[in-house]
Amino acid sequence: MNRYDIEDVDCILAFSGGMDATAVLQYLLDNGKKPYIFHHQWASNPTINKLVRKASNKVENYYGVKVVDWTHQVEANNQGFPNRNKSNEHYDKLNLLSPSLPKWSAIAMMANYNMPWINEIYWGMCYGGMLKRGDGDGDKLMNYVDGKLTRIPPYEKPMDKSNYDDRHKQLFNGYLQWLEMFNIDSNYIAPLGHYSKLELYKMLPNDIKDSIVTCINYKKTKYKSECGSCHKCKELDKVKQAYAAGL
Ligand SMILES: [Zn+2]
Repeated sequence: MNRYDIEDVDCILAFSGGMDATAVLQYLLDNGKKPYIFHHQWASNPTINKLVRKASNKVENYYGVKVVDWTHQVEANNQGFPNRNKSNEHYDKLNLLSPSLPKWSAIAMMANYNMPWINEIYWGMCYGGMLKRGDGDGDKLMNYVDGKLTRIPPYEKPMDKSNYDDRHKQLFNGYLQWLEMFNIDSNYIAPLGHYSKLELYKMLPNDIKDSIVTCINYKKTKYKSECGSCHKCKELDKVKQAYAAGL
């Protein structure tokens, strides 16, 4: 049984299947919100999609919500990269991770256009720290300093359109200004950004704690289990150990 009808949604949540997004879901439901929860995926990635779907099923059953899959079916292989090598030549020169940010934020904008009564787009981000707020680990906030994207100290509060760092500012503000053209006054909000990972982990119900998808190298185990050695796996391990130790 769903706890609310999809017609009655009042905000949008970008859902990755990971800990930060799941904690935000918990937070939204605790606050009486009815999120339109979506997950972006590539049709050409069926093994990963199956893994995330498993997590989504658990979340759907536990919370009584619907996770809507937005699937890109690109008519060229390699998820829309006609020439991976040529693209890699460009991106390898930059010390930046391939960002999922422009993908989910674009879909959230399109979804908001479809639901013009909505003014809040939520996403999971955790710049507060790993085991303790302010310990310096977790997601980075980046501003341009002397023309170079540079890490800045984390905020001690949520992030929204009043205080985006430069990495998010131009992208989000572009979408928000475009939505304004249609009288949609929206906002991208990371309500728990200033929490530590450990705090987010503690927020999750025990039934959900094991179903979060975090690994970025499932290839290593031929998609059978988490790799245990990528930085995301290591982070979660650290958090789990701290939790088990009662920190
Ligand atoms: Zn891993």
